[in-house]
Amino acid sequence: MKTASNTKRTKFIFITGGVLSSLGKGLTAASIGALLECRGLTVTFQKLDPYINVDPGTMNPFQHGEVYVTDDGAETDLDMGHYERYTDAVMTQINNYTSGRIYYSVITKERRGEYLGGTVQVIPHITDEIKAAVLQLDGSVDIAIIEIGGTIGDIEGLPFVEAIRQLRGDLGKEYSLFIHLTLVPYIKTAGEVKTKPTQHSVKELRADGIQPDILVCRSEVPLTSELKAKISLFCSVPQDAVVTARDVDSIYEVPLNLHKEGLDNKILELLNVWTGQPNIKPWQNLVKNLKNPKHKVTIAITGKYVDLTESYKSLHEALIHGGISNLSKVELRYLNAEELETGNPAELLEGCDGILVPGGFGKRGAEGKISAITFARENKIPFFGICLGMQLAVVEYSRLVVGIRTAHSSELDPATPDPVIYLCKEWYDYRNDKVQVRDENSDMGGTLRLGAYPCTLIPDTLASVAYKTEEISERHRHRYEFNNAYREQLESGGLVVSGTSPDNNLVEIVELADHPWFLGCQFHPEFKSKPMRPHPLFKDFIKAALTYNQNNR
Ligand code: GLN
Repeated sequence: MKTASNTKRTKFIFITGGVLSSLGKGLTAASIGALLECRGLTVTFQKLDPYINVDPGTMNPFQHGEVYVTDDGAETDLDMGHYERYTDAVMTQINNYTSGRIYYSVITKERRGEYLGGTVQVIPHITDEIKAAVLQLDGSVDIAIIEIGGTIGDIEGLPFVEAIRQLRGDLGKEYSLFIHLTLVPYIKTAGEVKTKPTQHSVKELRADGIQPDILVCRSEVPLTSELKAKISLFCSVPQDAVVTARDVDSIYEVPLNLHKEGLDNKILELLNVWTGQPNIKPWQNLVKNLKNPKHKVTIAITGKYVDLTESYKSLHEALIHGGISNLSKVELRYLNAEELETGNPAELLEGCDGILVPGGFGKRGAEGKISAITFARENKIPFFGICLGMQLAVVEYSRLVVGIRTAHSSELDPATPDPVIYLCKEWYDYRNDKVQVRDENSDMGGTLRLGAYPCTLIPDTLASVAYKTEEISERHRHRYEFNNAYREQLESGGLVVSGTSPDNNLVEIVELADHPWFLGCQFHPEFKSKPMRPHPLFKDFIKAALTYNQNNR
């Protein structure tokens, strides 16, 4: 790894978390980035995850939440999604490291003999590798925000904490800042908030050699100045560097609340950066629109991971963004696709103004998703199919409209005589400028079509109306594709292919002409939606749902 050659020196903010997980470190990091951008500074991020998996690509979404995909095809932690949604920063392979990836790199070097027979140790070899990963960002932006995953005190996190401790010494005070996020719980029976967990967490952090510069205290209630004074005294953090992160209704309120608490001011004071006052108007307008919707639509999401909305994080946000641009509240109804297999779709989908079948792997619930698609198609309810959702829309259309009764995806039924969705054995990978070859026995990790691919749109389709352009680029994460052997038959049966790869080989978008809004895409548009710039497909899907709602309720 080498350091960027640019001459600009980047200042680093390191964010750690204490007491418990899920306090919102990722959102705090993203919000700080947003506030710094509002002051005209450039920012980037890095997430250092202590687990041993080399990347989150193979991790179960139940355990870990969504796998977020970047333009360059990295399978990353869902916090990358927060960073990209809140700022203009573009995340790539170098913005997310796990312990596994760090160790992998050190062990590879050791096998190559690069350590010249020395004993390879956590300090300095692992910590040096972490520091080099962090310092790759030096010179690229004004401020880099580095989030350490997990909680202070975790055994796995120690090498990362040690590396950032050392970086303070290497970079100096005006180029490094420690922010610690902690919990100040409200105890109902005592009727008061308690600072002890924060004191303990800071004690633990100090034992690792880090004195926090700023404490962000997550709390149900605003902290009074007395409480801040108490925390300040026990933790040796100036009182104006103790800020409250209050629970909020919408995650998009977080930047404004932290700004009100003076967090961005304090950060810049400590890093000795001078800017004008931030322009927070866009965030104020966003929150105002979110809190005062004029309409309401209900969208059904039929999936496998319905019990855990974290698995559909970006999707959930993209739908909210689509709502913002239509001044509409979007109520999401997660439906277990397996229930749709036995239940009555009309009953289960009663009251829904739009139906969305998201991405997924494996055949569980597939037939239930297909019956939801039939219901949407026949009843002219707006339908949006994403990745697996698009593939199943093709299966549904083939079976019920075109009459290919045995049509299926070969992922879900390897023996199907009519694989309308199949494992495409060769495709042109433009990023590596080579034809990729794979078959059913290929390694699971290496055979996904991942990251941004270009797509050409056909004029006068729902897709081209939404995007208002002919060339787009969207992110992928899938293995199976539309089978061109059936393309002519399906097209003459009424299916509209409205987007393809520029060489016309891969079908990227399908839609229906005699339906108000029925569209399936092979890519994941949800990864590119931002609250300030809602994705065109989500915007139009919600618009269609709103029209459906107004005509039918
Ligand atoms: N399982 C399907 C495939 O591999 C779809 C993947 C997805 O929805 N992300 O092609």
